[in-house]
Amino acid sequence: MRSKRFWRPYVTRAHLRPGSPEWEELCQRCARCCYEKLEYCGEIFYTASPCPHLDESTQRCRVYSNRTVEQPDCAALTPEIIAMGVLPQGCPYRRFAPDSPLPKISSELPDEIRRQLNLDL
Ligand code: SF4
Ligand code: SF4
Repeated sequence: MRSKRFWRPYVTRAHLRPGSPEWEELCQRCARCCYEKLEYCGEIFYTASPCPHLDESTQRCRVYSNRTVEQPDCAALTPEIIAMGVLPQGCPYRRFAPDSPLPKISSELPDEIRRQLNLDL
């Protein structure tokens, strides 16, 4: 019988249910996705505005275990949400939707839209 050796935790897709400990472990806690985003003409644009619950000195969420109550528009990551292209390049969850578009930054929005939204970036 052939055996396999793994030097790193062996996580199968079956374990990777959204919300499972293995799923949560994929997060690098970089907090890059904890900034306000805008959708314009089907594309996602990041702004420089952090979520009010983000501690910018530690890059940690202050309400993580209760975030969907404290911040109702904090979307739980699911394959469907990931496929919208809301996660930045290098985020480990992008592997579940590798063809999803990369988000842009709000400075790439048309000037008129930035003025309407009063965006600094
Ligand atoms: S961008 Fe990805 S790795 Fe970084 S905090 Fe968000 S989900 Fe975690
Ligand atoms: S509630 Fe927490 S996890 Fe959700 S966007 Fe805000 S800081 Fe990030």
